[in-house]
Amino acid sequence: MEQRPVAEQHRKPSIYDLSLAELTHALAGWGEPAFRARQVWEWLYQHKVDRFEAMANVPRALRDRLDAAYSVGTLLLVAEIKSSDGHTVKRLLELPDGQMIESVLMEYDGNRRTACISTQAGCAMGCVFCATGQMGFSRHLTPGEIVEQAVVFARQLEAAGERLSNVVLMGMGEPLHNYDATLEAIARLNDEAGLNIGQRHITLSTVGLVPAIRRFADENLQIGLAISLHAATDEERGKLLPINRRWPLADLMDAIRYYIDTTGRRVTFEWALIAGENDTAEQADRLGQLVRGLKCHVNLIPLNPTESYAGQPPDPARIEAFQQRLHDYGVNSTVRVRRGIDIHAGCGQLKADVVKRSRAKRVQPDEVR
Ligand code: SAH
Ligand code: SF4
Repeated sequence: MEQRPVAEQHRKPSIYDLSLAELTHALAGWGEPAFRARQVWEWLYQHKVDRFEAMANVPRALRDRLDAAYSVGTLLLVAEIKSSDGHTVKRLLELPDGQMIESVLMEYDGNRRTACISTQAGCAMGCVFCATGQMGFSRHLTPGEIVEQAVVFARQLEAAGERLSNVVLMGMGEPLHNYDATLEAIARLNDEAGLNIGQRHITLSTVGLVPAIRRFADENLQIGLAISLHAATDEERGKLLPINRRWPLADLMDAIRYYIDTTGRRVTFEWALIAGENDTAEQADRLGQLVRGLKCHVNLIPLNPTESYAGQPPDPARIEAFQQRLHDYGVNSTVRVRRGIDIHAGCGQLKADVVKRSRAKRVQPDEVR
């Protein structure tokens, strides 16, 4: 990814923006037999080569022709930082039109290697505590731009004898706002001829777009669904998440019950704990009442403070009290370790930081390592 010159990467369209059907069509237009597209596809998604040159069983003339027409991906590494424990890597990537997105690789104990990838440049949902929300919406990512983030991590892991095992659509943007591209990307992540990551190893996180959750349920997939709840009353949720004014909690909970009934899957509720805001006994009680009896799990995430929001994470004793109160309702929860808080772990925070610094001068990758 990062080795090739900027000009070359940005000149040609990405071959990852083609579906298998589109690639087949394009190659048929060049007079190539149908099996060639499948071959090229395997090089891209199974062998994960980073240049056409490496497609050994593809005739040289075709490799050259592909190379003249497409690039093997267009993501350009602008900045990369590692957490001090070395288990989390966060990247800032530049798209051909200059937009920037983030993707993160997290190494858990054992063999779990999870990529957290973005689905939009910026986000239109405006959640007050979120660095991406604070930037506003720039554009949707293409299926290729979404998938390539995972391919790049998978390529590097495989070179080190490891394997990308999980993908979470929890980076920048609201995946269900970019519905079609996200679904196409999920299909390719999951496809045996694609990255071959099991549906149960893929999780999509949404702020709660009610009609899209119902549509997603009807896709009949086994993809994990995480819901950014963050508050259990309309008043409190409406303050934090503007989308709640469009689809209040009652509608959201109906859609979630529909998802659980349709897919049989347990859902995850995400709750960024904010001191004095949604960490109160009252909110814990309301949350307990809202979700008890549902097939669900609650992820409690101490807030990552961001520049344009004054909120702070609660102290550990309050987090524990909140968790205990949920437990009293029979609701299971986990306090999510803020992996790599030291690497601007919150969604959109690396971009916010780099953009701020680059107002004076463009940041070079070697300056941020
Ligand atoms: N748009 C989707 C997915 C991307 S955000 C969504 O909102 O669910 C991924 C998760 O990070 C969401 O649960 C979001 O609420 C949470 N998040 C965003 N900013 C945060 C912050 N500053 N601290 C803690 N969690 C945050
Ligand atoms: Fe968008 Fe999710 Fe951030 Fe809300 S939390 S602004 S939906 S990325």
